[in-house]
Amino acid sequence: MIHIFNTASKIIISILFALLFTHCQYPIPMNNESIFAQYAKPDRKDHHSFANPSEAITKHLDLDIKLDFEKKILTGIAKYNILNNNATEMIFDTRSMTIDKVILDDNDETIFSLGANNELLGQPLKVTIKKTTTKVSIYYKTSPDAPALQWLDPQQTADKKHPFLFSQGQAILTRSWIPCQDSPGIRITYDAKVEVPKDLLPVMSAENPFEKNDHGVYTFKMKQAIPPYLIAIAVGDLSFGSIGEQCGIYAEPSVLESAVYEFADTEKMLHAAEKLYGPYLWDRYDIIVLPPSFPFGGMENPRLTFATPTIIAGDRSLTSLVAHELAHSWSGNLVTNATWNDFWLNEGFTVYFERRIMEALYGADYANMLAMLGFQDLEADVEHIGHSHADTHLKLDLKGRDADDGMTDIAYEKGAYFLMSLEAQIGREKFDLFIKDYFSKHRFQTLTTDEFIVYLKEHLIEKYHLETDIEAWIYGPGIPEDCPVVVSDKFSKINNIITNKIKKGQLKIDDASVWTTHEWLHFIRHLPQDLNPETMAELEKIYGFSKSGNAEILAAWFELSIINGHYVKIKSEIKSFLTQVGRRKFLTPLYTALKEEGDMAFAKEIYTDARENYHAVSVQTMDKLLEI
Ligand SMILES: [Zn+2]
Repeated sequence: MIHIFNTASKIIISILFALLFTHCQYPIPMNNESIFAQYAKPDRKDHHSFANPSEAITKHLDLDIKLDFEKKILTGIAKYNILNNNATEMIFDTRSMTIDKVILDDNDETIFSLGANNELLGQPLKVTIKKTTTKVSIYYKTSPDAPALQWLDPQQTADKKHPFLFSQGQAILTRSWIPCQDSPGIRITYDAKVEVPKDLLPVMSAENPFEKNDHGVYTFKMKQAIPPYLIAIAVGDLSFGSIGEQCGIYAEPSVLESAVYEFADTEKMLHAAEKLYGPYLWDRYDIIVLPPSFPFGGMENPRLTFATPTIIAGDRSLTSLVAHELAHSWSGNLVTNATWNDFWLNEGFTVYFERRIMEALYGADYANMLAMLGFQDLEADVEHIGHSHADTHLKLDLKGRDADDGMTDIAYEKGAYFLMSLEAQIGREKFDLFIKDYFSKHRFQTLTTDEFIVYLKEHLIEKYHLETDIEAWIYGPGIPEDCPVVVSDKFSKINNIITNKIKKGQLKIDDASVWTTHEWLHFIRHLPQDLNPETMAELEKIYGFSKSGNAEILAAWFELSIINGHYVKIKSEIKSFLTQVGRRKFLTPLYTALKEEGDMAFAKEIYTDARENYHAVSVQTMDKLLEI
């Protein structure tokens, strides 16, 4: 209802929210001593950062950078205001960068050293500071292969005229373009000055310009404190298109119109989200559509979601991804996992919240289809990882491992289903109040799983005498017995069609023309894996799957085709898809299927051509998979 209010009532509502939030200060603001003490707690130890926040913590960053597209490097100064616990050494995270000098308090050059390179974590930058130091300025240069940054040649963009750059910070890559205390448990505000070639527009996870200026120097401000993995930049020939008072799209000129159409419901999603779980605290919500090599579906950089163009299907059928990234404005960006072992706190809540937004806009049936597809993903991941494997626990132990190893459907779907199981027990009304309160009480804070459990027990489990087996869900393997079962009439119909028609050779389906993407996905995923080549060819002829404009449908069809051998007839379509798209969600199952079916030659043939188009995040996973 909020979206039909006029501006005056919006202002009054904002003031009321502001008053409300200044009066419920929880947790009580901490003094410096307890802040330092908090970082010394064992379960807050971040094994993916070298930083020493119990001694000295970054609080605000003034970033001054210049981008060189020819050399593919970025030169800059990262000047930090710090909170100093009488420390004599401050440690930052860095990765493949050169440090030129370090200045304390604006004028005092100091000693520093870069420690040995750790393959997973990069290098610690140890800076000698004084007990009275309050500012540390680091002069540095990135390397052309900094894994956070993907420098694209014009050929790799949609319009093929200008180069493009984008960053991907999560999980621990920001340290490769900004020396920082790169832990999700440490929050900073930032200002930035960015110099780019004059024909390009830079945007960041901050207050952004809407158009190019004629001198190529831009300033940015992020006044809310965020963890470093959410500092982000994209630079390209970008245009802006408004889709509402608070929302808009950045994209290359040729993509803008279709993107504006695809994401037209974004502001409605924002209002639905606010109605569910409280005010949006980041001012604007914009989306930038990146070139296809972006390794993820989306990245929830605050104020500016980074999105893959593979969700532009032409029919708004894949926009749950926008609801997902938007939901992160609460779960993840407002309330953040303290370490990557607690990643499910970010993603489980976000998937749950995403489906609630989609339900508010498009109805329960739509959300149920999403939940069922999600459950299928969860089952597949549990099968793949191993039913009793510790990586199927919600709380992970990633010490000594790649932080990205936690990015499986366990965090996303098992996390969401855990919350659904709680909702099922106490009813939606009480559960919504609990979540809304949880976000508001922990806003701009970080939480460990153990801290969450203490809160959950007090405010839900004990309060309503629930019998949920928290141990099984959080510290146990696989899918717990009390996992809710979601049903969808539409999916049940498809199951019947597969059993009663497809399996009997009747391949034409009467009402298929009105099916949604989700129904098609369910259909393809549930076709018998051993369909014979004639049937596959006939299905291809009737439904044109490998010519679909929808990346999800393409990926599902290609995977099935590889498994049953049909792929030899559509090799060029598969190759073209895998060469153009760098989204890891699609690459992993397709390359895995080729590997398992024994056609490593074809997998490597594609990968040899495609590798340079992929972001480092995808390259790292695929190199491992294909043993390169
Ligand atoms: Zn997410």
